[in-house]
Amino acid sequence: MMRPLPAPPQPYVLQDVMVPISLLRDFASRPVEGGGMTDGLVMADLGVAAGRLCHASELPDAIHVPARGNVALPRLAEAHVHLDKSETIHETGAGDGTLMGAIGTLGPAMHTWDVDHFRTRMTRAVDQALTAGVGTMRSHIDCMLLPEDKPGWHAIKDVMSEYEGRMRITPVALAALDRAMIDGFDTRCKQVARAGGVLGAFIPPDGAAPEVLDRFLQGAARYALDVDFHVDEHLCDTPPATLALAEAVVRTGYEGRVLAGHACRLGLLPADDLDRALDLIAQSGIAIATLPRTNLYLQDRQQARTPKQRGMAPVREMSARGVPIVIATDNVRDAFFPFGNYDLLSVFADAAYALHLDHELGHWIRSITDIPARVLGDTDGGLLASGAPADLLLVPARNWSALLTAPPQERTVLIAGRDRAVGGMNTITPKEIAL
Ligand SMILES: [Zn+2]
Repeated sequence: MMRPLPAPPQPYVLQDVMVPISLLRDFASRPVEGGGMTDGLVMADLGVAAGRLCHASELPDAIHVPARGNVALPRLAEAHVHLDKSETIHETGAGDGTLMGAIGTLGPAMHTWDVDHFRTRMTRAVDQALTAGVGTMRSHIDCMLLPEDKPGWHAIKDVMSEYEGRMRITPVALAALDRAMIDGFDTRCKQVARAGGVLGAFIPPDGAAPEVLDRFLQGAARYALDVDFHVDEHLCDTPPATLALAEAVVRTGYEGRVLAGHACRLGLLPADDLDRALDLIAQSGIAIATLPRTNLYLQDRQQARTPKQRGMAPVREMSARGVPIVIATDNVRDAFFPFGNYDLLSVFADAAYALHLDHELGHWIRSITDIPARVLGDTDGGLLASGAPADLLLVPARNWSALLTAPPQERTVLIAGRDRAVGGMNTITPKEIAL
């Protein structure tokens, strides 16, 4: 149990707090005393002054807050959600459980919603993410027409303003890749740039012609836009489009700005082909988003048969080659995934067992913290570093098992050192510590 935090601007030190060593920079640490499932966790003292982390030794007059029994994480970075589709299952029904079924179910309904409809649901979703400890979020918004002609695009711009200072939100204008070949493509890029957004594309299962990919990346380059793809979200026996994308990135030199989500099909490649594909993906600098919930729900669905292929990208092999891997939520309570929530820590727990990451959690926690923060352009975020903003998530836990199962209501979210994410409180409320 922790006592209330001192009133600002009083500096304080979180004493004996547990942290993943992979996220700790230039702070001294001590080994954790015993207990199972603590690999990669250490004890440290984190000073907080003027909204930033600093060394306890720099704060001789600071109040010491005993924080033993809590894990501190940087606020989490959510790299892939669809706020425009969020919580619509009650309106549309569930579809047939396939990707094409979901597109057919949700698509027509989306045309009937106005800005208010989008904004109300987006606000609820962002509140939920904020409470769960997310501080940075990238959301796709369907924009087959130009973004500024879509109510969803206007709604997310409103939500971005409303949450400024509490949640950094970036919209992705999502359309089929072939939008790159029509007249309005340059206007699309210009509108995305105007909103501070990201240029998104869905690459269909029959792949992508090199000239279309090149045209898309060249358009992005004209406006210095980051790009974000839905790619290989299927298990068909076709050439992997992730590979074509990597080749296009190398060919155009547009490296370091590409996030590719799903990449399910890669997991079915024979070993030799997979080795070659992953070497090229690593060379291209593409970051890969794995989205366990939607993949497990949509992939290999057949009537009256248990799925045999789980449709997950080979992230362990990619990570071993240095490919940046992010773990993200994707859809929440819509026709693409009728369940779930915006608790990224619980998505991480799902990924841990679905992808067998549980023996290297200290490494993989980076996939919801500093790796996506960097991909999303938040160079200060995702790390516990001296001088970084004191944007923290405190969870009552003494090991990974307790950390990954603590419900959001037990967590404390600190923004610039203050507990003000939702309720505006200035205290860490007493919570039972999970043993
Ligand atoms: Zn998606």
